Amino acid sequence: MEEILAGAPVADAVVAGVTLVEDDPTDHSVGLGGLPNENGVVELDASVMDGATGLAGAVAALRGIKNPSHVALKVMRYTDHALLVGEGALRFARAHGFREQDLLTDDARKIWLHWKATLSDTDDWFPTPPKDVPPGAREMFGITGTINCDAIDTAGNLAGVTTTSGLAFKIPGRVGDSPLIGAGLFVDNAVGAAGSTGRGEANIVTVGSATVVEGLRYGKHPKDACLMACQRIVDATRVKRLQRADGKPDFNVKFYTVDKQGRYGGAAIWSGGEFAVCDAKGPRLEPLASLFTA
Ligand code: ASP
Repeated sequence: MEEILAGAPVADAVVAGVTLVEDDPTDHSVGLGGLPNENGVVELDASVMDGATGLAGAVAALRGIKNPSHVALKVMRYTDHALLVGEGALRFARAHGFREQDLLTDDARKIWLHWKATLSDTDDWFPTPPKDVPPGAREMFGITGTINCDAIDTAGNLAGVTTTSGLAFKIPGRVGDSPLIGAGLFVDNAVGAAGSTGRGEANIVTVGSATVVEGLRYGKHPKDACLMACQRIVDATRVKRLQRADGKPDFNVKFYTVDKQGRYGGAAIWSGGEFAVCDAKGPRLEPLASLFTA
């Protein structure tokens, strides 16, 4: 918000917002300290979309660079492409002067090692002693975590960013929804900006963020547009392994949006979540709307 009020481009402002968390080694969902893939290597995904120019940039499966959102911004501004992945994304980041570092913090390594060592009792890995297992480690198995930040500036221009370390202990090379324009992020400067967190695979097959923006385009309130995208996912979830006994999805996906009028909203499949808002009334957390009560 400070960046927007200082007149920075809104795409830079949203990236500055998520940088605070990408840089935080104690947050295990994005950037430095993000949970690694199944081999213990942190692989990051991020996308940026700018309403004023209608351009997007993204990186996927990027290793060794703590701010994938910054690299995504450079892809948008300094290439003719929208998405760079893996080695190519890393070479591009190096060319732009990004410094490589080991993103696996000791805490994230211990959480990964606990997962690895307790995965099977018929392999050669024995569990580590309880004193080496960070509190809450087991609750982080298979979890997801991401930040989406969308904003409108005083001139009415919209932008958004989504950044993540993806699904914890994923297969190396797995790319989630976050760097995919239309799925983890979508911005239309005439309508609104939207993004998502949660099970990326479900969002990819329903192009959730584009769905939210289409909802806005046809007159839905931001909250209802987010609920519509959640309902699409519920309707598209037809295989048993992804359903609870009552047929509802056994995972969560959340959407966040701000429209051209500056109205905002957020919704999830399952209740219990909150999202952060900042406007003239100041920063605060608000509850997400939901389809189902957990
Ligand atoms: N959507 C992210 C992904 O699938 C994870 C998350 O939001 O928790 O990579």
